[in-house]
Amino acid sequence: MTKLCCSDCFENQSVKDYIINNGVGKNYCDFCDDHKKHCIEPKELTELFSPLVNLYTRIEEFMPMEIMKEHEGQNIAEKLIEDWNPFTNDIPDNVESLLSEIFEPYDIYEDEGLDLDCWVENSDMFWGAEDEPSNILETSWKEFCKELISENRFFPKKSLDLSFLSEIPILTETIKTGSYLFRARKSEKPIKIPPRKMGMPPTHLTQPGRANPKGIPYLYLASDKSTAIHEVRPETTEFVTIGKFKIIKELRILNLSNPYIYDPFLCGESLFRVITLMSFFRMLGNELSKPIKPKQKDLHYIPTQYLCEFIKHEGYDGVAYKSHVGSGQNIALFNNEKVKCTRSNIYSIKAEAIEI
Ligand SMILES: [Zn+2]
Repeated sequence: MTKLCCSDCFENQSVKDYIINNGVGKNYCDFCDDHKKHCIEPKELTELFSPLVNLYTRIEEFMPMEIMKEHEGQNIAEKLIEDWNPFTNDIPDNVESLLSEIFEPYDIYEDEGLDLDCWVENSDMFWGAEDEPSNILETSWKEFCKELISENRFFPKKSLDLSFLSEIPILTETIKTGSYLFRARKSEKPIKIPPRKMGMPPTHLTQPGRANPKGIPYLYLASDKSTAIHEVRPETTEFVTIGKFKIIKELRILNLSNPYIYDPFLCGESLFRVITLMSFFRMLGNELSKPIKPKQKDLHYIPTQYLCEFIKHEGYDGVAYKSHVGSGQNIALFNNEKVKCTRSNIYSIKAEAIEI
């Protein structure tokens, strides 16, 4: 008789949702050994799990015999749990049989029965640490930046196609209507700046920033009040007004603050490619966050201004990157049409106590 698994067999939300939307409904789960609301035949999950299992290779497929004698490989179920945690912790004894049922139609196991213990990561993959696709892109980026800064600014000879960034699902984030972001402005006197003056500066007063070129204003916001305050680097004698910005229309952001595969199932078939590009994504994020000496700002902001204009060209509302001085994220919006400063509050700056 065909076995069934259920949405409670899995920890991963994408898999749960898939079962809820595509399953056979209420039935008996053979792995939880109980009646469950949302059940499905494990073979229906083969396509979903294939990109994950394809990250690993059976040891005998690439390792020479004499070396293989010393390497036993690892259990594929354990590796999946260790690296991605897709299964619930409630069925530890049944994970292996569930996995073998998922892949039963493709017969990935040995003929004489389950052979789960012979898998390792692909030999040419280093989980985003030293991957060739990332290395190639990082070198191209550095050469491209050099040309923009010191050779050709508007018609560079080197080309760098970054359009794939918008195809990487883990980098696109939506900030929902009704949520809030924050902006800080400094003042010498304890006079609160009103909400209508907390927006971006007019064109003629716009200085070059990490994301914007001179004369093209962007709205620099932060994910929380503390990060907003840290970003303006106030002196202890100064005052800071914090503007609270309500999101009035959903924002689509390219988020480079912490590139991370929180859900491998969202990447689908592109999972392996995303892993091998992680190092490049992190490098771009670091470029946006790294401190630049005031005297070098004019020239050294040019590459990140280029990157941000490219992201704007791709149709995003803004870009998010890690704050170098605060614990949260910075979000540079390319216009102020989808946010509204609803209130402002003034704060005095006190020196923090530092234990010595
Ligand atoms: Zn179950």
